[in-house]
Amino acid sequence: MEQQLSQIKSEAMAAIKAAENLTVLNEQRVKYLGKKGSLTAILRGMGKLPAEDRPRVGQLVNDVRKELETVLDEQQSALKEAELTNRLASEKIDVTLPGRRQEIGHLHPLTLTLNKLKTIFKSMGYSIAEGPQIETDYFNFEALNLPKDHPARDMQDSFYITEDILMRTQTSPVQARTMQSHEPNSPIRIIAPGRVYRRDDYDATHSPMFTQVEGLCIDKDIRFSDLKGTLTTAMRQVFGKDLELRFRPSFFPFTEPSAEVDISCVMCHGKGCRVCKGTGWLEVLGAGMVHPRVLEMSGYDPKQVSGFAFGMGVERIAMLSYGIEDLRLFFDNDLRFLKQF
Ligand SMILES: [Zn+2]
Repeated sequence: MEQQLSQIKSEAMAAIKAAENLTVLNEQRVKYLGKKGSLTAILRGMGKLPAEDRPRVGQLVNDVRKELETVLDEQQSALKEAELTNRLASEKIDVTLPGRRQEIGHLHPLTLTLNKLKTIFKSMGYSIAEGPQIETDYFNFEALNLPKDHPARDMQDSFYITEDILMRTQTSPVQARTMQSHEPNSPIRIIAPGRVYRRDDYDATHSPMFTQVEGLCIDKDIRFSDLKGTLTTAMRQVFGKDLELRFRPSFFPFTEPSAEVDISCVMCHGKGCRVCKGTGWLEVLGAGMVHPRVLEMSGYDPKQVSGFAFGMGVERIAMLSYGIEDLRLFFDNDLRFLKQF
């Protein structure tokens, strides 16, 4: 019996130390120390022993049980620790990995250009006026001295919603709206930025929707030289202080006299290049003294006050500022383009 005991002991020791996980270890505990385990079986068989041997063998069995329990506990702690180490290793987070960056957007090049123009005119005492993009025929044409049969309407064919309501072809209706909302003959100094619509092709230099900034200045004794000074100051702030301006006689129904305003080419500085078609000049603005009839229609007295008005395309200014050759890039929403600003 003693030999049997020592065999069970060494077999159990080996099995416990070989257990590679807690489940296997628990199976070994049941196998040797459980109710039906081999050590228990020996205790049960003690009845067959001579009475004087029983205490000694009983003691031996208990010693073996204690030894096995100690080894089982040790092995259990070791396995638990190994399991924890494994888990920590497998669930480890590499804090040195770069994070996922949140991309911060920025303003569109047209908005940047518009903001720049707004800042320049605000510094000269102008305020910003806005009006509806869906406009009445009256404000878009009639109040600007363009009656229904006026041939200049052909230059601004638009998208009509009804006979009398259309997508505005220019921001000029804001001028008429502003004058009519003011006391007659009170001074006005506004710029009106916004989208305008014309039935036009969509190509490198045309779009059926584009952005305009118009300006209106009305007061006593406003003269053409004030217009020249204002536009020269503004354009030099956009394109640089060496910029030259050229005023060419032109016609607009709502101004008299009227002028097309050219700037010296910002690409070749007047020498002549592909952009300015060899002329050294670029047309960027239309301007003139407010027509007396336009003043009268909005309740102003042309004998007491005078004024000038001007208008420019924001896309054109942005294209020249940034050296962009195709107008469609502004509207295509291609991030490769937009990210350059
Ligand atoms: Zn040029």
